[in-house]
Amino acid sequence: MLKKVAVVTGANKGIGLAVAKGLCGKWTGDIVLTARNEENGQRALQALSTLTHGDQEAVFHQLDITDKKSIDSFAGFVREKYGGIDILINNAGIAFKVADTTPFGTQAEVTMQTNYFGTLAVSKVLLKLVRPGGRVVNVSSMQSKRALAGCSAELQAQFRSETITEEELTELMNRFVEDAKQGRHQDNGWANSAYGVSKIGVTVMSLIHARELSRNRPNDNILLNACCPGWVRTDMAGPKAPKSPEEGAETPLFLALLPPGAGEPHGRFVSEKQAEPW
Ligand code: NDP
Repeated sequence: MLKKVAVVTGANKGIGLAVAKGLCGKWTGDIVLTARNEENGQRALQALSTLTHGDQEAVFHQLDITDKKSIDSFAGFVREKYGGIDILINNAGIAFKVADTTPFGTQAEVTMQTNYFGTLAVSKVLLKLVRPGGRVVNVSSMQSKRALAGCSAELQAQFRSETITEEELTELMNRFVEDAKQGRHQDNGWANSAYGVSKIGVTVMSLIHARELSRNRPNDNILLNACCPGWVRTDMAGPKAPKSPEEGAETPLFLALLPPGAGEPHGRFVSEKQAEPW
C-alpha cells in the first residue's frame, strides 16, 4: 500500500521547517520537505532525521514555486513515490523589508510572482493529487485583511464576492502590479502594500479553491483553508516578533491535522485556530 504523505513548501527554515518538524511528532505519514535551494533543503532535512518515528520517513525534494519545470518535476516525483498527497502546506513566500529602496512597482511584481502566482501554479498542479480526506493549508497573513480594509469599496466587494473566479482574481492581481508600476495604485483604490495585496490574492484564491473542491469533489471531504501564523521570529519578520517558529506553526498544523470526518473549517481565513470573517 502507498504511504500517506505531507508536502511543505519553503520548508528549509522559518515557519515551514517548524511545520515539517511538528508533523514528525503529530502525524504518521511521510513528510516531504521542499526548498528551492537543494543545499539548504538537505541541511534542513538533517533537523528532521531525529524526529521521525515508526516507518515515517522525511525526504527532501527541490521545489521552486516560481519555476514551472520544478513544479512539474516535483509532481512527477510525488505521483510516482506516493500516488497522491494527503496534506499540502503552501507556506513558501517572500516579503521585501520595510527599509528596502527597490521601487514599489518592482516590489509589487516580484512579491506577486512568488506569493500569488507561485502558490497558484503549485495549487493548479498539486491540488489534483490531493486524496480524499486531504487537508490543504495556504499560509497567507493577517496583512491580507489589513490590505483588504485599505482597498476601495469596489475592490473590497470583488474580493469578498462568493462568485469571483480564479481568472478574475488573477486579472485583479495583474492590474495591481500594472498600477503599482505606473505609480497610480493608490489613485485606483489599492492598499499601499505589495505584500498585503499579494496575500489578498492567497486568501481569495483559497476561498475559490475551497468552493471548487466542494462543487467538483463533494464526497471527498477535503478541507482547504488560508491562515495567518501570527507574527513570528523568522528571517522574514525579524527578531522582535513575539512568536517562535514552533508557535507560528500551531495554526497551520491545526488545519493540516483536522481529524477525519471533520467538516469545518473549510474555505475560511483562520487565525489562532479560529475562522475569521473575511
Ligand atoms: P522565511 O523567510 O523564514 O521563510 C520563507 C520560506 O519560503 C523559505 O524557505 C524560502 O526559501 C521560501 N521561498 C521563498 N521563495 C520561494 C520560492 N520561489 N520557491 C520555494 N520556496 C520559496 O519566512 P517565514 O517562515 O516567516 O514565512 C513563511 C510563510 O509565512 C510565508 O508565506 C509568509 O508570508 C507567512 N507569514 C509570516 C509571518 C511572520 O511573522 N513571519 C506572518 C504572516 C505570514 P529560501 O530560504 O530559499 O529563501
